[in-house]
Amino acid sequence: MKRFQCGNCGQIIEVPQGVPKPPNCPRCRAPATMIHRLNKGPPGGRRGRGGGPPWQRSSP
Ligand SMILES: [Zn+2]
Repeated sequence: MKRFQCGNCGQIIEVPQGVPKPPNCPRCRAPATMIHRLNKGPPGGRRGRGGGPPWQRSSP
């Protein structure tokens, strides 16, 4: 799922992968120039490589 947000009314628009950004906001009809892509997932994701937190790591 890709998420967009309308900069005019704040509407969150979700579209499946492979589907282009809607040409208008479904709620307020704002043009696509008002619709912005949202980052997927929380900021700073993709940190660490499995395992627990660093303070729980036991070094051999
Ligand atoms: Zn809108």
